[in-house]
Amino acid sequence: MKIELAHRIRELPPYLFARIDALKNEERKKGKDLIDLGIGDPDLPTPAHIIAALTEAARDASTHRYPSYVGMESFRQAAAAFMQTRFGLSFDPGKEVICVIGSKEAIAHFPFAFVNPGDVVLCPDPGYPVYATLTRFAGGEPYFLPLRRDNGFLIDLDAIPEDIARRAKIMWINYPNNPTAALAAPGFYERVVAFAQKYDVIIASDLAYSEMYYEAPPRSFLETPGAREVGIEFHSLSKTYNMTGWRVGWACGNPQLVAGLGQVKTNVDSGVFEAVQRAAIAALTGDQAPVAKQRAIYKERRDVLCGGLAAAGFDVLTPKASFYTLIANPKGLTSIEFAARLLTEAGIVATPATGFGPSGEGFVRLTVCADKARLAEAVERLKALKL
Ligand SMILES: *Cc1c(COP(=O)(O)O)cnc(C)c1O
Repeated sequence: MKIELAHRIRELPPYLFARIDALKNEERKKGKDLIDLGIGDPDLPTPAHIIAALTEAARDASTHRYPSYVGMESFRQAAAAFMQTRFGLSFDPGKEVICVIGSKEAIAHFPFAFVNPGDVVLCPDPGYPVYATLTRFAGGEPYFLPLRRDNGFLIDLDAIPEDIARRAKIMWINYPNNPTAALAAPGFYERVVAFAQKYDVIIASDLAYSEMYYEAPPRSFLETPGAREVGIEFHSLSKTYNMTGWRVGWACGNPQLVAGLGQVKTNVDSGVFEAVQRAAIAALTGDQAPVAKQRAIYKERRDVLCGGLAAAGFDVLTPKASFYTLIANPKGLTSIEFAARLLTEAGIVATPATGFGPSGEGFVRLTVCADKARLAEAVERLKALKL
């Protein structure tokens, strides 16, 4: 029998991390001590009270059955209470909040509710790859919006051609941003609302890094006047509470957008394990001191890494939020070449920003998901590099 992959899989863009992955395996086999600053996955453990809530809930047999599609009411209330405390926004847990299997799942399914063949989805470049890939899976056409350093990595709304804006169904925004670590500048969200109203475009805001900040706490897009008419926001417990493996988050916003996502999900999945939801409630409603403590840890690490690199003469973009740092490529190197040399000559795993889209050219991305001593060692290795 001949087995052929579907066009949508065969036509996926080339996997840009393949070369780096291959080099990483080679270096590992040689026994090299690699400092992996490549992936955005917290190295710190989930706080103990959250683990305790999970184990207790897992022993309760009532959690073992199929959960509700939209999430337990108590989970949706906890998410709504979080939105109230953190952003001063009140949401109806019955209509305006839905539990999701990590925000990636929700981001992936959202276009299936609203995109028809030929519709355009506006995706930041560089950006989280799920926005564009799942747009294609849903039959839509991604249109890439370049994020540039000289513009603070904000979307330039005036540069979107009129015919594209008219065909656009959804626009993805993500601040604090992965991979650039940029924040939404004052006035940006207001301009996004005006754009959405003018062209009838749904605004999908990915706020995975809302609690990972070093200065003022980032705003929710939904705080902007008019935003709740046009928008939905995707929240995650993954980065905030070191729960990337647990797969739980929520989406909230315009009730029609929340309901559309819910209709897709009802046909695809069967919700989040109730024991995990109960643990998530413990996370959202419990002591937030571990989150503040963690912010302090990331900040110290950021200062070791960025301070060290700047002192060594690298052009480093010190982040105000997120756990990502961009370093500009030394003259004459592409992002892939720079990442390859960091790996083979310094034993440092970095991510070429071009893995997130062609406008990432010019940078590699490092994370602070390693302890201070390892980051200091990384700085020493980078100083010794002859580029
Ligand atoms: C990590 C990440 C997510 C998704 O995290 P989940 O674990 O699926 O909740 C979403 N968006 C961005 C930009 C991320 O970096």
